[in-house]
Amino acid sequence: MGRLVIVSNRAPSVDGAGDSGGLVVALKDALSQQGGLWIGGAPKQSENPADELNFHQRPDFEIALFELEPELYRDYYLGYSNSVLWPALHGRVDLIDVQPHYSAAYRKVARRLARQIARIVTHDGMIWVHDYQLIPLAHELRKLGVTSRIGFFLHIPLPDLQTFKAIPEWQELAGCLADYDLLGLQTQRDLGHLINIFRHTLRGELRPNGNMGINGREVVLGCFPISIDVRGFRQLAVDGAARTAPPSVPRLIGVDRLDYSKGLPQRLLGYETFLSQNPEFCNKVGLLQIAPPTRDDVDAYKAIRSDLEHLAGRINGRFGTIEWTPVQYIHRALPRDDLAVLYRYSRVGLVTPLFDGMNLVAKEYVAAQDEADPGVLILSQFAGAAEEMSDALIINPHDPQDVADAIRTALQMPLAERRQRHGALYSHLEKHDVAHWSAAFLKRLLAIEKADAEWLER
Ligand code: ADP
Repeated sequence: MGRLVIVSNRAPSVDGAGDSGGLVVALKDALSQQGGLWIGGAPKQSENPADELNFHQRPDFEIALFELEPELYRDYYLGYSNSVLWPALHGRVDLIDVQPHYSAAYRKVARRLARQIARIVTHDGMIWVHDYQLIPLAHELRKLGVTSRIGFFLHIPLPDLQTFKAIPEWQELAGCLADYDLLGLQTQRDLGHLINIFRHTLRGELRPNGNMGINGREVVLGCFPISIDVRGFRQLAVDGAARTAPPSVPRLIGVDRLDYSKGLPQRLLGYETFLSQNPEFCNKVGLLQIAPPTRDDVDAYKAIRSDLEHLAGRINGRFGTIEWTPVQYIHRALPRDDLAVLYRYSRVGLVTPLFDGMNLVAKEYVAAQDEADPGVLILSQFAGAAEEMSDALIINPHDPQDVADAIRTALQMPLAERRQRHGALYSHLEKHDVAHWSAAFLKRLLAIEKADAEWLER
């Protein structure tokens, strides 16, 4: 059995610092058992020729960095990945910024990376490619004769066929997806979209086993909802609460990268509606919104920041008093342990994306709660997490009244109902944590050649 190779846009740190992020925790075990390798991007620093991987041995697994020149990185990452694919796959076709040099850079990165990977993988190895930045990788690897099993997991949503067609290269991308052996998506919703895209673009045929026959070969399809280290995150919250006092007024919390897919203005409009209809709650609750900046160089992200600041200012001006600020807004990232205790001390978790692959904040909020006196999760029907988390209060983020009603319901919910909902959510998450996610994906990839299945039996 050959080694497991993970490929993602960004590599974990070479020294293991900052490993608390879900993906590294999830894949560490599988990688260290197999003498695995993680290949990920990094800004160009060393004097290495840009075409060569830069290897670093960690105690648990090996890392190989692929370095890109700043201009290429900009066009591939901020350009095609985040100004074409991200908005299109999140259904925001109005925000797509099509530039020919963006798509050229995107293909160039995949080609270059494939040449490096082709030199080091063996026939019996397994390659697991992550996310929208690297869709053409299997196609490029196959062109170079690589025969290893190659799986792909899309962390973000896949929209319906009509939306997908707004990407100028949609046919090419569909073809590239069909070059994988296994395609993993977050939800049944996205899986349905993929099947439809394959049917219409490549005359794919759905087989009774749920896989797709395309051009004479079978592409295995699966739905693998990603998760978090549930017990670990809960422990962070328990430990943090032992060190910190709870807030003086019940709190609603929102935690999101400042991204237009997260429904932040809609959340604030819902909160504003709630305050205007329920004046008895003024002075008695507060919304803490933590929204660190991201992809600042893309125009659409500047716009969302100014929208949010405008709305927060309006609500504070309209309802605030000398003693009370209705919206507290923090525009930076916080350490995970601080975040965990903030969730635990919040009566309501507000997760209102307009379209989201999964949304891990929803899972973190539930994991962090005190089961004896848990808070209530308000969750958008458009978050992938809503497929699994039906015991949350499910809302339509486009309807401020729906959001306002859910806030009121959550704040008035009796303890017994809060415990019942939280209990159901937590016990599902405990069984479906991030280790479960990665094992399920790898098992499916491995099953494509069953003879080698022993190493995952643990
Ligand atoms: P996305 O991957 O689109 O950002 P997710 O909700 O799936 O959305 O994951 C976001 C991750 O980023 C979560 O683990 C969350 O805790 C973290 N995060 C978001 N905002 C902050 C913040 N202000 N400080 C620290 N971590 C944050």
